Amino acid sequence: MGFYDSLGVRRVVNASTTFTALGGSLMPPEVLDAMREAAGSFVDMEELHLAAGRGIAELTRNEAAYVTSGCAAALVLAVMGCRAGGDPRLIARLPEGTGLPAEVVVHAAHRIPYDPVLGLAGARVRQIGNALQTFEWELEAALTADTAAVLYVAGRHLARGALPLPTVVRIARERGVPVLVDAAAQLPPVENLWHFTTGLGADLVAFSGGKALHGPQASGLLLGRADLVEAARRNGAPFQRPARPMKAGKEEIAGLYAAVRRYVGLDHDAVARGWEATLAYWAGELAGLPGVAVERDPFNEAGQPVPRLRVDVDPRAAAADAAAVLDRLRGGDPAIAVLPAEDPVTGTVSGFWLGPDLLAEGEAEIVAAALRRLLG
Ligand SMILES: *Cc1c(COP(=O)(O)O)cnc(C)c1O
Repeated sequence: MGFYDSLGVRRVVNASTTFTALGGSLMPPEVLDAMREAAGSFVDMEELHLAAGRGIAELTRNEAAYVTSGCAAALVLAVMGCRAGGDPRLIARLPEGTGLPAEVVVHAAHRIPYDPVLGLAGARVRQIGNALQTFEWELEAALTADTAAVLYVAGRHLARGALPLPTVVRIARERGVPVLVDAAAQLPPVENLWHFTTGLGADLVAFSGGKALHGPQASGLLLGRADLVEAARRNGAPFQRPARPMKAGKEEIAGLYAAVRRYVGLDHDAVARGWEATLAYWAGELAGLPGVAVERDPFNEAGQPVPRLRVDVDPRAAAADAAAVLDRLRGGDPAIAVLPAEDPVTGTVSGFWLGPDLLAEGEAEIVAAALRRLLG
């Protein structure tokens, strides 16, 4: 009996996206092999962190890299690094950080559910602009001696009201304030691993290891300026400092290293052709079902170029309404997760999206069969 079966926990077929609540992503064999091998010996963790960081920096065309226990942990460690630098006497003051800069400037358009993690670094959000617009003078006025960093959240799915990243970089750099980009789910394209930092001049960027990189779910990456990456590292494990709970183990470090190496070497065009084939298959299977309309959406929910199939269900003509379909998919065994499409004003679920990028062998067929059963 398998592990999940032995606990009575249902497996989930993930036609949704890389949600942490569903397990992030699945690790390919080379990542699992790296974790298993790393688990077989003790190692000097500082030596491992530094060597893996050098390797990942080279693979991602960044000055430096550090493996964390997730993108959120990377944000906390980055802000701690921006506040205290690498000096153990200043790190010892965290998280309160008396006398250290405490504000992180964030566009209103970039307020996201992960903001509260900045508080773990003892920092406060200083919000600028509104959902629709931000002026350069607002950023200039917000940058003071108490500013630790600017947090810039990347992705075309966000509100449009933020200043462009190059403008933020120019203004912040004039005042010596680091710019930290949250790009947790901003892959593909693979170029984003270096685009925000090496390309656009941000000081640091954070990615999730357990999303598009297909690394361990509890892993993340901090990339960018060597002095700031080093400052972040000195705040983390193995040191007994406030960020100790955000520990990446040797297995996560090995797994993420292997995942990054795999990701930068992937034939991304071939991967994309596979996604298109899955969408075409689904569109064919759903064609002709009464009250069901499908359309290709070129972007995923994080605004990245991972195509999805948008399925709209007309409750007057279809065998079931969209909300009922979603309930039955989630209630099945295996459960099937898809992303609901809601009317933003009424909240009515009118359909859903099917994502092709996280399916194991044979799972596209499981999704199609379930939908034909519920809507046929
Ligand atoms: C997923 C996500 C995070 C958190 O990433 P973890 O790797 O789960 O810690 C942070 N910011 C954004 C924008 C995200 O999408």
